[in-house]
Amino acid sequence: MVFEGTQPGGQLMLTNEVENYPGFPDGVSGPEMMELFRKQAQRFGAETLFQTVTQVDFSSRPFKIKAEEEITEAETVIISTGASARLLGLESETRLMGHGISVCATCDGFFYQDKDVIVVGGGDSAMEEAGFLTRFASRVTIVHRRDQLRASKIMQERIFNNPKVDIRWNAVVEQMLGDTQNGGLTGVILKDTRTGKTERFRCDGVFLALGHIPNTELFKGQVDMNERGYIITRGKSAHTSVSGIFACGDVQDAVYRQAITAAGSGCAAAIDAEHFLENQA
Ligand code: NDP
Repeated sequence: MVFEGTQPGGQLMLTNEVENYPGFPDGVSGPEMMELFRKQAQRFGAETLFQTVTQVDFSSRPFKIKAEEEITEAETVIISTGASARLLGLESETRLMGHGISVCATCDGFFYQDKDVIVVGGGDSAMEEAGFLTRFASRVTIVHRRDQLRASKIMQERIFNNPKVDIRWNAVVEQMLGDTQNGGLTGVILKDTRTGKTERFRCDGVFLALGHIPNTELFKGQVDMNERGYIITRGKSAHTSVSGIFACGDVQDAVYRQAITAAGSGCAAAIDAEHFLENQA
């Protein structure tokens, strides 16, 4: 039984084109890929429900999962609730997501050949994404809200030494400009955090690198997590701190965060769960 929630498909629903998943030489849209995944799971008997789990009890077996006031009991549970990219929370951001705004340079960078892009954020991800984007874009501007980066020294130096990258200090994106009918994003309104002055800044793409939040609120106090809220899995396995509860994908991976690595760890979790059930018989 798969509880998909009310917005199934997760982060891939925010991507236009997935170019780096094997088996799709011409790329595939994120939503289309999710539909194919669902169909394939259903072919093997998975029951998929558009329901959101609101409570779990992993203190004893069978485990209890509550969704829409109904409790389902399970001998084993695989947690794959993923992570969400932190967003700025602007209306224009929601509207233009996937139309010039991206949360993943690895996924979408290729589309910005010889274009001007900005990267928002000052952490290691922002540095890594900015560096990666210089392979395609003609100009990369990092927009950071403070006058100091959060990123590690080595990542900072790499960026300072990259002639294709500029940094706009003490600046925040106040609005994204453009509309989906006319080619998407055309620029942003930047605001200086010290003076409050705003300006129009032309660009073809915005990459948000504000960090990720693992979707683990529901499991607090039930399975062990690290200080950032990611579920801890044992070694290369999908075993969590509770025997019979497994975790896979971005909910336990803050490093790779790709569809293909998540799918691979999902397969490992299924095998671990199967072995667990066999050993119980
Ligand atoms: P971080 O939380 O480290 O950085 C997020 C950045 O976004 C910060 O600079 C923060 O600003 C900024 N930010 C957050 N919210 C807003 C907002 N609303 N408006 C404007 N700016 C905002 O996330 P990362 O994804 O960069 O990194 C996560 C972890 O992964 C870190 O531990 C990092 O070291 C690690 N990592 C390591 C890499 C490597 O070593 N190769 C590569 C990528 C990640 P502020 O600084 O002001 O808080």
